[in-house]
Amino acid sequence: MTVYAKGVVFEGVDFDNPNHWRLEEYVKRGGYAALKKILNEKITQDEIIAEMKTSALRGRGGAGFPTGLKWSFMPRNFPGQKYLVCNTDEGEPGTFKDLDIIVSNPHALIEGMIIGGYAMGITVGYNYIHGEVFEAYERFEEALEEARAAGFLGDNILGTDFCFQLHAHHGYGAYICGEETALLESLEGKKGQPRFKPPFPASYGLYGKPTTINNTETFASVPYIIREGGQKFLELGKPNNGGTKLFSVSGHVNRPGNYEIPLGTPFSELLEMCGGMRGGKKLKAVIPGGSSAPVLPADIMMQCTMDYDSIAKAGSMLGSGAVIVMDETVCMVSALERLSYFYHEESCGQCTPCREGTGWLYRIVHRIAHGEGRPEDLDLLASIGDNIAGRTICALGDAAVFPVRGMLKHFRSEFEYMIEHKTRQFAALS
Ligand code: SF4
Repeated sequence: MTVYAKGVVFEGVDFDNPNHWRLEEYVKRGGYAALKKILNEKITQDEIIAEMKTSALRGRGGAGFPTGLKWSFMPRNFPGQKYLVCNTDEGEPGTFKDLDIIVSNPHALIEGMIIGGYAMGITVGYNYIHGEVFEAYERFEEALEEARAAGFLGDNILGTDFCFQLHAHHGYGAYICGEETALLESLEGKKGQPRFKPPFPASYGLYGKPTTINNTETFASVPYIIREGGQKFLELGKPNNGGTKLFSVSGHVNRPGNYEIPLGTPFSELLEMCGGMRGGKKLKAVIPGGSSAPVLPADIMMQCTMDYDSIAKAGSMLGSGAVIVMDETVCMVSALERLSYFYHEESCGQCTPCREGTGWLYRIVHRIAHGEGRPEDLDLLASIGDNIAGRTICALGDAAVFPVRGMLKHFRSEFEYMIEHKTRQFAALS
């Protein structure tokens, strides 16, 4: 994919230079200066965590949890091994930003993880990379080798007594392994199924040891925060929504791709950056944060700014920052059919409401989309959703329900039309 707008993570990256991802180029644009700063100036763990809190960096994987706060949960005096894990198991439909980070700026992630290890007193880290991007995995391995050879990674980093080992791990492409505890199970060599929580990974994580897990973009934002200061990062965005954020824009725009823009940027500006709607068509709806985020109709979306609080207030989620743009020709019943099929397929099957319920959701939406809907189907969809959401081990159950609720809230008339007319063609095309 192409990166069209650069912020903190891709600052200074010259994509025209084929070596832009290499260590030498990263160092030329200020790379590893943050690591040198904390080691040379003997910045304490508390000071780093305080800087992270000042930055208001929120987890870029989807949940948006404050990173500094998460880092402060790690028990720093734990006597045994602790682990740091990066979640690059990017599998949310519509999201393709982390892939660009490990391909185009892997050292930002590596440096961010080393700093995280230092701040939390962790000496071993893993980067769990999605299974369908093997070339990206190889690129990341090469970057790790460069960092080790230059003394930024491994034993006695830059001549100090700080040691941090970082390894890449290749997943196998299951969506559920992006759920943090399923990821840990998979990393341990087991079937990737989510664990019951509590205990949370901060106390019982990888191999039962305290573990901090962050997303790729989150770690890649850390060097800038430490180098330039948390306040400067915060001021790039807006209060409670610090910094820039990568948005993966797909769908009916002229220029789909990754856009790294300040949090708080109006959606209308982002749409303009993407070259506007493809073919001059009208905007109908947007899924603003990956496939599990409830859809928002055009009139609501055009009032939103791209940040956690604005999108939540509008009734959806910023999630991973995958913005799926739909024009006036899209049949929302068919769109939901596709989404529901995905969650049905990706359910790990461990708990009944999700295993059975996602299949029921899909089959009902499927029959409506194929002109075989029944008058009671919409109530049935709502009732099944109520019996899944909040009753499962992990959030995949909720993720399957949110798109259904969003579609029924904003586009119910399309479902009703197709049921009433027993048609496969939604109203706008009939
Ligand atoms: Fe597995 Fe679904 Fe239960 Fe999550 S909610 S543990 S994916 S069955």
